[in-house]
Amino acid sequence: MHVHVYRPGKQTTAVREKILSRGSLPDGIAVPSILNGDIVNQGFGPEEFLQNAIANGVAQGLLLPVAPFGTRPEVVRKYNQWHAEIQTTRRGELISLGTINPFMSEKAAAAELDFIRENFIGVKFHSFLQGFNPLAPELGSLFEEISARNLSMFWHTGAPEIYARTNTLPEHLVKIYDAYCAKDNLATVWAHLGAQRFGDYFLDYLAEHENIFLDFAYTYALDYAVYGTELEGKPVEHDGRWDFYFDLTNPRYLDKLLKKLGPKRFFMGSDYPYTSMVVMMRAVNRMFEVHELNSEERNAILSGNARRFFSLMGEIQPDKSELLSPFC
Ligand SMILES: [Zn+2]
Repeated sequence: MHVHVYRPGKQTTAVREKILSRGSLPDGIAVPSILNGDIVNQGFGPEEFLQNAIANGVAQGLLLPVAPFGTRPEVVRKYNQWHAEIQTTRRGELISLGTINPFMSEKAAAAELDFIRENFIGVKFHSFLQGFNPLAPELGSLFEEISARNLSMFWHTGAPEIYARTNTLPEHLVKIYDAYCAKDNLATVWAHLGAQRFGDYFLDYLAEHENIFLDFAYTYALDYAVYGTELEGKPVEHDGRWDFYFDLTNPRYLDKLLKKLGPKRFFMGSDYPYTSMVVMMRAVNRMFEVHELNSEERNAILSGNARRFFSLMGEIQPDKSELLSPFC
């Protein structure tokens, strides 16, 4: 439920460089994607994703395109068109959300949202890559237009402190949900487990709003599940690069989340190609064991919750999704 694919060429080169530049975690643990072998010659298109997914027992994926800061409206449309085409040609295997440039003119945004409504069930936002402050008042009308079209908002979460303006944390997302989604109980997703920064207030809020989902994409929860024994009890030195996704000071937040919300609110997510599918599946299985989830609870996280999300948004998936096929 959290995958990215890229066209060959410049985009692929940029993604590869981003992955390779990560090196290792502060305590010397290799970055998961590096563990998965030869990234150097790999493409990151839909075919590569599906090959990688199928090899790891994952049957379906949710694509999340992001038009970075400054993307011109006609290029935003190209992103959406390409993802709509993939969704059509790989129906039953890949489903996509749409992307928008939050700084587009009102007119261009309305046209793009109409296109998105025709083709997708929601919009992915990445405030950091798209360079916007999620609480900026001038974005209010965009969020209203999205809600008016009954589209889901799928939020990257994280807080690189040096870019404080573009933080997306539970405190921001609660305000957005209250203002634009709560009235109609719209389904929304806070990726990366909501940046793993949950005080009791946010836990109570999540418990009261059952259509807010969280995904495991690129979270410390999964690394912790894999490397748990090595890290247990050892505070990991924080070098500032990693708080984009991880709160290394709080490795036990997943216990808290599962206890408070139960397993029905979580999606799998690999954040392919930024983490390895091999590592992700290993971690998910380890997490199931650590938290002693039964088969019904495991199936909910693997695919049942994804289907609930789609049906809340009026999306009927083809027969294949009726199988208990892991959805990444
Ligand atoms: Zn992602």
